[in-house]
Amino acid sequence: MSTPISALQALLAQPQQVVITTHHKPDADALGSSLAWAGYLKQRGHHVTVVAPSDYPAFLNWMEGNDEVVIYEKRQNDAQVRDLFHRADVICCLDFSCLNRINELGDYVRSSPAVKVLVDHHQQPENFADISFSQPKAAATAEMIFEIIRDLGDQDLITKEMGECLYAGIMTDTGSFRHPSTSRNVHLIIAELLKVNIDLSAVHRRIYDSHSEIRLRFLGYVLKDKLVVNRKYNTAYIAISQEELREYQSKTGDTEGLVNYALSIEGIVFAAVFIDRGVAVKISFRSVGDFSVSDFSRRHFDGGGHHNASGGISYQTLDETVDRFLSILPEYQEQLTGAPLAVAPP
Ligand code: 5GP
Ligand code: MN
Repeated sequence: MSTPISALQALLAQPQQVVITTHHKPDADALGSSLAWAGYLKQRGHHVTVVAPSDYPAFLNWMEGNDEVVIYEKRQNDAQVRDLFHRADVICCLDFSCLNRINELGDYVRSSPAVKVLVDHHQQPENFADISFSQPKAAATAEMIFEIIRDLGDQDLITKEMGECLYAGIMTDTGSFRHPSTSRNVHLIIAELLKVNIDLSAVHRRIYDSHSEIRLRFLGYVLKDKLVVNRKYNTAYIAISQEELREYQSKTGDTEGLVNYALSIEGIVFAAVFIDRGVAVKISFRSVGDFSVSDFSRRHFDGGGHHNASGGISYQTLDETVDRFLSILPEYQEQLTGAPLAVAPP
């Protein structure tokens, strides 16, 4: 029986037209794994285009290959992007598991005659790929890309620049090596990447220490005035309106990481950030321990993700969304507080 790696090996034996795509608002893992995979495929003689379904934070634009990423904009390049997907021999879908995560591009993937390859670590993958690497236990898609290149026998093709893209993905998806997903394997891979002299501190600095002054002031405002701590359910949350985003000239990526501040409060096990994006309210969920935010967001907010980090969406107003969130919490009282719901004595 053929394994995904042998199927991939056979597929890549001839030069192919490859499109690599990743999820909406790519993060460091999404973009880093896509660009490292692109760097590898190019060295192997394939023609590669990376297509992002939306823009992404400026703190990722140092990655090698960034300048050639095609950012899908419906009104600007719809026909060109549709054509790219339609003509591709191979479409690689990295760091997402459901085609609804890539907006319109989901239809282009579905209807393309290309061979579809999935490389992802989210839970409950949709069954659309011909060759599927799905490892919900992996810390990052970048970890899986490293292993795939190694298992194809080509670790020596990983350059410093590719290594820094992979490092960025692993570093951010493990919360700088502190989430439980930070396995021995993760550290062994970093040790391998260090062999090609990746600059750990430079990657960390480019991602975490490159904020604008106004972004820092926005953070100050949010922590002082917007953070709500609900001790009854060990939950903390932040809701941000469009007006506030405008006031602080918020750019893509500026709200990333806010949710971790809410989760960093002692005793808090569940954190949420609600951002009013106009067309919808985008939500980030995080938890510590057993409480599954991927189940929570799948069940109530049309989302998904990982056990302790997930996201979802709401088409109600910001206030209605927060009210609904608060009205759901009592259902989870036992998981959030460890105390069973009080039952009236018989
Ligand atoms: P973040 O809160 O950083 O945007 O996302 C946390 C995790 O949940 C990421 O792995 C992300 O891919 C996933 N995620 C975010 N939003 C959604 C969503 O709307 N649907 C699904 N299925 N996953 C999401
Ligand atoms: Mn990821």
